[in-house]
Amino acid sequence: MPWDKLREECGVFGIRTEGEAAPYIHLGLYALQHRGQESAGIATFDGERVHLVKEMGLVAQVFTPERLAGLRGGIGIGHVRYSTMGGARRENAQPFLEPTPWGTLALAHNGNLVNAPLLRAELEAAGCRFEATSDTEIITKLIATSPAPTLEEAVAACMARLRGAYTIVAMVGDTLLAFRDAHGIRPLAVGRRGADVVFASESCAFDHIGAEPVRDVGPGELLAADAGGLRATQVLPRAGRASCVFEYIYFARPDTVLDAQNVHHVRRRMGRVLAREHPAAADIVIAVPDSGTSAAMGYAETSGIALEVGLVKNRYVGRTFIQPDPSQRDFGVRVKLNPVEEVIAGRRVVLVDDSIVRGTTSRQIVRMLRHVGAREVHVRISSPPITHACFYGIDTSNRGELIAARLSIEEIRREIEADTLGYLSVSGLVEALGLPRRDLCLACLTGTYPTETPTAALAGRFALEAQRR
Ligand code: SF4
Repeated sequence: MPWDKLREECGVFGIRTEGEAAPYIHLGLYALQHRGQESAGIATFDGERVHLVKEMGLVAQVFTPERLAGLRGGIGIGHVRYSTMGGARRENAQPFLEPTPWGTLALAHNGNLVNAPLLRAELEAAGCRFEATSDTEIITKLIATSPAPTLEEAVAACMARLRGAYTIVAMVGDTLLAFRDAHGIRPLAVGRRGADVVFASESCAFDHIGAEPVRDVGPGELLAADAGGLRATQVLPRAGRASCVFEYIYFARPDTVLDAQNVHHVRRRMGRVLAREHPAAADIVIAVPDSGTSAAMGYAETSGIALEVGLVKNRYVGRTFIQPDPSQRDFGVRVKLNPVEEVIAGRRVVLVDDSIVRGTTSRQIVRMLRHVGAREVHVRISSPPITHACFYGIDTSNRGELIAARLSIEEIRREIEADTLGYLSVSGLVEALGLPRRDLCLACLTGTYPTETPTAALAGRFALEAQRR
């Protein structure tokens, strides 16, 4: 049974250092592992040649000591992937390599392009051959085939052609690059470790290597680090910022800082507003760990209801397991979560989670709590209902799977068998974020998209595979 969450997209990391880059990238990818668990890759440059390791699997599985030892050089990039465009196959693992007039380009991408099929058709008509079915390869080909006289101008010309979400780290020779779409939909930060320049999807990766965050890479901005230092160019006019609110709600690690705000603090504020909007007569507040933990703290603070540990997460479950007894109901949830009967029995419980996608997991958790004696279960969700697809690197392109796109809140309450159900409102979310509404992407909650959207036929993970057939 799939865990009922939006799936994270990808994480990117890059460093230019006086020493060896690979050990830092390796640690950085560990910190970003929550953003993608299907494949991992590192490319480095040692002054003469590019070294590449990329495989299906977790960071701990892919990078054996022998493989890491072969990744030589003081400049490199890394990537962890969950497939949002193109299937989960090694050919789609990143970084991608591509020969260019300036040297071998290595590139890693987080996000989804909404005009990928169009760009690919154009490039194929111009004679480009594609090996993979992910949109990232399109970006490498656009840079490699650019008639621009310099690398940075080629990247700028490429950025002008891309539509949708892209957060990219890349390297060519001893130049490390980072650039971001005009709306800044997915996060990307720049940090320093002494004289070293570091880029990462989330600032938590800086902490693990002793780097200091400097700032976010701006929407439409290109940063280039080489022997001459760090240069910033505003390539695209800022088209109106649209930071993904789900980075705050769920994707980013709580110790990450986004737009100068600590993610845990933002989630806690969401819980406070949620308690104000949807109070409950209850004895205890519990979280669905770990994603609901910060919001549950905020809910308990504002409601005055005691916060308890009512569900314990089994952290060591792999992605696949065989069900010993096929008749056992709610098996998938039971493997991951265990209710604390001594806390739950006889109590009226507020259960705080960050989101409901399909609703299957929520119902199983509610049943589990009743099974150990909960008198009432009041479900509180620290995000508004997800009613629309995301085309920017989150796996919700099939709108039919979203329970809130099909059912009213009262129908969802019945479906998940809760006594009451309350979602944070969109205005409550914006209040908790403390950012102007015009600077946020709220598209999966409101249906108002910050960019053009793909037609139904060209949306989804396998758009480019359909094109290839
Ligand atoms: S549509 Fe939703 S998940 Fe996608 S980028 Fe916008 S806020 Fe994030």
